[in-house]
Amino acid sequence: MSKINKENTMSRLPVTTKRAHPDSAGQDPQPAQKKMRRVDQDTLRAKQAASVVGIKRPVAVPVPRPAARRPTAAATIAGVGPTARRPTAAATVAGVGPTGVNKRPVASTAKGVTKRPPWDLKGKVCDMEVKVNTYQSRLKGASQENDGLKEAVTQALEQAAKLERENDNLKRKLNMCEEKLDTLSGVKEQLEEVSQQRDTLEKDLRSLTDKLRAVETLNDGLNSELHTVQSRLSMQTSTLTHTQDTLHETQEKVRGLEENLALQRENLHNGEMERRRLHNTIQELKGNIRVFCRVRPMLSNVQADVPHIQLPTHDNKAVVLAKSEESHTGRSGDTQKNYSFSFDHVFGPQASQQEVFEEISLLVQSALDGYNVCCFAYGQTGSGKTYTMEGGKLDQECGVIPRAVQQIFKAAKALEQHGWEYSFTASFVEIYNETLRDLLYTGKPNKRPEHDIKKNPNNGITVTNLTYQSVTNEDQVHNLIELANQHRSTARTCANDHSSRSHSVFQLDIEGINPNRGTKCKSSLCLVDLAGSERVQKSQSQGERFKEMTAINSSLTNLGIVISALASKENHIPYRNCKLTYLLQNCLGGNSKTLMFVNIAPELDSFNESLNSLRFASKVNDCVIGTAAVNRK
Ligand code: ADP
Ligand code: MG
Repeated sequence: MSKINKENTMSRLPVTTKRAHPDSAGQDPQPAQKKMRRVDQDTLRAKQAASVVGIKRPVAVPVPRPAARRPTAAATIAGVGPTARRPTAAATVAGVGPTGVNKRPVASTAKGVTKRPPWDLKGKVCDMEVKVNTYQSRLKGASQENDGLKEAVTQALEQAAKLERENDNLKRKLNMCEEKLDTLSGVKEQLEEVSQQRDTLEKDLRSLTDKLRAVETLNDGLNSELHTVQSRLSMQTSTLTHTQDTLHETQEKVRGLEENLALQRENLHNGEMERRRLHNTIQELKGNIRVFCRVRPMLSNVQADVPHIQLPTHDNKAVVLAKSEESHTGRSGDTQKNYSFSFDHVFGPQASQQEVFEEISLLVQSALDGYNVCCFAYGQTGSGKTYTMEGGKLDQECGVIPRAVQQIFKAAKALEQHGWEYSFTASFVEIYNETLRDLLYTGKPNKRPEHDIKKNPNNGITVTNLTYQSVTNEDQVHNLIELANQHRSTARTCANDHSSRSHSVFQLDIEGINPNRGTKCKSSLCLVDLAGSERVQKSQSQGERFKEMTAINSSLTNLGIVISALASKENHIPYRNCKLTYLLQNCLGGNSKTLMFVNIAPELDSFNESLNSLRFASKVNDCVIGTAAVNRK
């Protein structure tokens, strides 16, 4: 090159202005310098760009400065990717091809070098040679640079491959990460669920904590209560121990008392049996057949004086019927005839139902003690038999039957405490014209059954088809009496419109058992309201009434006979002579107690009937006295 420059300097060829480039005319003293400066600026920019991209710049092959611009920029672009525009050396050469040479003056034209005249062809050749050399050196630099760039490209490709691999790795990692992310999203859901559960649990925990606190408070309260209770318990325990000791002592005492009680019960039972025996003895001493006389008050005036019936005030056993009779001779005045009678007791017109019953109550007691008791009311119609046996509606008017029933239920209840159990059966029968009629029958009237009196194997008397009603209290008995009264047959007579023309027999069968002692007692209480005892002539009865009267008189007479036979302990007692005695044979015979009321009407016109009644009763009474006397012997 230096050689070329040297030759150029030595050329003397003329330089024509024609060949000068129009642009360079007059202002081309430093075109190359300007280009150089631009190249430097480009290089600098490329350097900056390379440093900005951050990619390692390939090691540049030393290139002459003026030619460095394009390849450097190309190398920079080539580093970005294989498709980048890459100027080749050829292009570079083309850029400065011969056409450029024709247009421009020699690049190496030095400052102050004048244009070669057109004729200076040698100079021009020299210039061209210089240019060629320059271009060759540039080409060389460019090819070096190209090699550097190729290497850089290779490196870049390697780098790219490496980066691709890295990219693949990263993609794989990304996939893995995505998978993980998916997994994690599931986990996230689970986490959310778990966190919800945790919230719920926390809430539960809070409420449980609150509850726990409440329970603890309660527990504290209970503990303090427990302490109190425990202290009380210990007190109670000591009290209990003490009480148990006392209990043992008491139990011992109770055992002693129980033994004592059993002994006392035994004594009591023995005492009761003794009482019964003594009571019976008294009754027997009084006579097993007793007669009471009762005088009815005047119906118009209870206080009215009854001169023909005299009741000695000092003796309640005597009654005198007094009658003044005209003297048969007519010389003297009227004579007074007294009929004196003596009975076990005589009740005047003022005697109350209560007073009357007190005398009978001892016999009722005998019925409970197991003795048969029979109580009759005998007397003419209207003399007060029904009143005596049944009484009126008021309490104080109650007669023997309701009072006896009351006493029996009361006594039975009292005896229950001594281990006695009683059962009662009631029957109510009427004997009319020697025919039995069930007064407790409640069936159809046209289907009334017939009745027969029969002796059963136990020697008891039963009436076939009769109502035997089990009763447990007084009211039931009262209802039965009420029913019986509705059924009683009555017949109109001159003496009393409502007189009963039949015998009515109320029977209460009593059965007592003392299971602890194995003791039993069985008895019957018979309360009999007899038919009127008046004579036929007096009542002027005829026909059917006469038949009635005959039957009545017959049965009453027979009753007297039976009582007499019993009193005199005859071998044969004619019970079967009439239905009345046949029905009552168990209540009359054996160990029975019999009481007869003889009812007297106070009216003067009843004098003869009263006398007859008293005579009949007296006969019975005499029998009794006789028997008593025999017993005393
Ligand atoms: P009977 O039954 O003997 O035919 P009642 O008992 O029917 O006689 O008596 C006839 C009437 O005399 C009845 O009105 C009755 O109330 C009355 N009566 C009987 N006895 C007494 C008495 N002790 N006190 C008061 N009234 C009596
Ligand atoms: Mg009557």
